[in-house]
Amino acid sequence: MGRDGAAYGSILDQRSYKEEDIIRRDVAVIGGGASGTYGAITLGDMGKSVVLVEREKRLGGHENTYTDPVTGTHIDYGVQTYANISVSRDFFARFNIPVTNFTFPAGTTVYADFKSGHVLPRFSPGINFAPYVQQLTKYPDLAWSWNISTPVPKDLLLPFGDFVKKYHLEDLAFSVFSNPQGAANPPFLEQLTVNVLKITDESYLQGLQEGGDLVTANHDNGALYAAAQEELGSNALLSSTVIAAHRPSDDSCVSLVVKTPHGWKLVVASQLLVSIPLTIPNMAPFDLDNDERALFEKFHYSGYYTGIFKNTGLSKGTRYVNIDLDTEYHIPNLPGAYDITPTAVEGIFYYWFGSPKELSQKEIEAEMIATVRRLTNSSDEVPEFVAFASHSPFKLEVSAEDIQDRFYDKLFALQGKRKTWYTGAAVESHNSGELWNFTNALLHRMVDA
Ligand SMILES: Cc1cc2nc3c(=O)[nH]c(=O)nc-3n(C[C@H](O)[C@H](O)[C@H](O)COP(=O)(O)OP(=O)(O)OC[C@H]3O[C@@H](n4cnc5c(N)ncnc54)[C@H](O)[C@@H]3O)c2cc1C
Repeated sequence: MGRDGAAYGSILDQRSYKEEDIIRRDVAVIGGGASGTYGAITLGDMGKSVVLVEREKRLGGHENTYTDPVTGTHIDYGVQTYANISVSRDFFARFNIPVTNFTFPAGTTVYADFKSGHVLPRFSPGINFAPYVQQLTKYPDLAWSWNISTPVPKDLLLPFGDFVKKYHLEDLAFSVFSNPQGAANPPFLEQLTVNVLKITDESYLQGLQEGGDLVTANHDNGALYAAAQEELGSNALLSSTVIAAHRPSDDSCVSLVVKTPHGWKLVVASQLLVSIPLTIPNMAPFDLDNDERALFEKFHYSGYYTGIFKNTGLSKGTRYVNIDLDTEYHIPNLPGAYDITPTAVEGIFYYWFGSPKELSQKEIEAEMIATVRRLTNSSDEVPEFVAFASHSPFKLEVSAEDIQDRFYDKLFALQGKRKTWYTGAAVESHNSGELWNFTNALLHRMVDA
């Protein structure tokens, strides 16, 4: 065996690399979205050396900002707002990025069936969340964790459609569907109640209050990640992926072979922080043992996409929300857009698109052209697409049987094993502020270990 525990001559053997291609650090962070970026920066602040491996050519993950070349206006078309909690305020302040309270833009909302173009004129979905909150508060641990009591409360495993009926939430069902978005596999009313409560949680509802969440003062959420990227410098390996790994069961180091635009590098680190979606394609190169593989195999996920387009023929300043004239609570069947929303630049709209399975950009844009033509009742519209982002795989979930079988306890039991720690939406929630809070606590455990 080589010094890193790999067989001589293997791609994990340090002697297969020139010294300048070996990166030795305290911690290797995988993924540079909200949790990975926060993790890498905060570990640096704690005096640890880090290297971060990110597949894309930029940090930010679900955060996307488009800058209109004509007006210079920034348009956030991924993550919009941040929980107004100290960890969020501190993270922005650390990079001197001013934040302000988010306020909802004024304007007209049209509820239309995107599959036919028909408008539902007097539709007014309920927004009094009090009866929903009454249910949510029964499970305070869900706000910041996946701690679920034993036995698992039956209500949490009900399909959300049954939960809606049981607790008379019919008036709210559409709002719960259309606000947080992205959970499309299975269809929304078949989603397990626990997954709905987890995404439309207390922090999310706080953000629905006027001024409840934070937003960057000049609506350029990308500034946070650009500043972090600059600070990490060559410690952020962009456009890079791990292709092989050795994660020890003893006290030796983790070794990762990372494919970068500058050739293969061998990362040797005391600990590993994984923040990417825990799907098998993502995790297969990480030297999984049978228990880890068996857990990650259980995840299923949704397709979720956002984009920006113009020359749509849609009414300026109008937000179009997708409903279905014929379904229960008017919740539309996906794939399809949740809504089409005007941006700060006149005539430019962004759209949010959900699907039970992954689709290509071409398929989504074709559907958006068809949607716009139906909404404008004109087959002449040729929208121009100016930006697109895939957020898939989104909302990793497991079955009711797996949750009953204590899936999340088993997942959390992996923390620290084989020098590996896990953060990110799959292990906590789709909320940047909550993820920063969770990651912060995890880093202290890591450093103590
Ligand atoms: C459209 C949209 C809007 C949202 N709006 C909000 C909002 O307003 N407020 C809010 O709090 N939350 C929002 N969310 C939820 C969002 O998921 C979280 O806030 C947070 O961004 C999730 O962070 P993460 O670190 O788990 O994942 P991500 O941000 O997805 O980060 C994962 C990173 O890992 C990289 N990666 C993936 N696979 C690999 C691999 N194999 N190797 C290397 N790198 C890899 C990805 O490129 C990505 O950069 C939104 C999500 C979406 C999709």
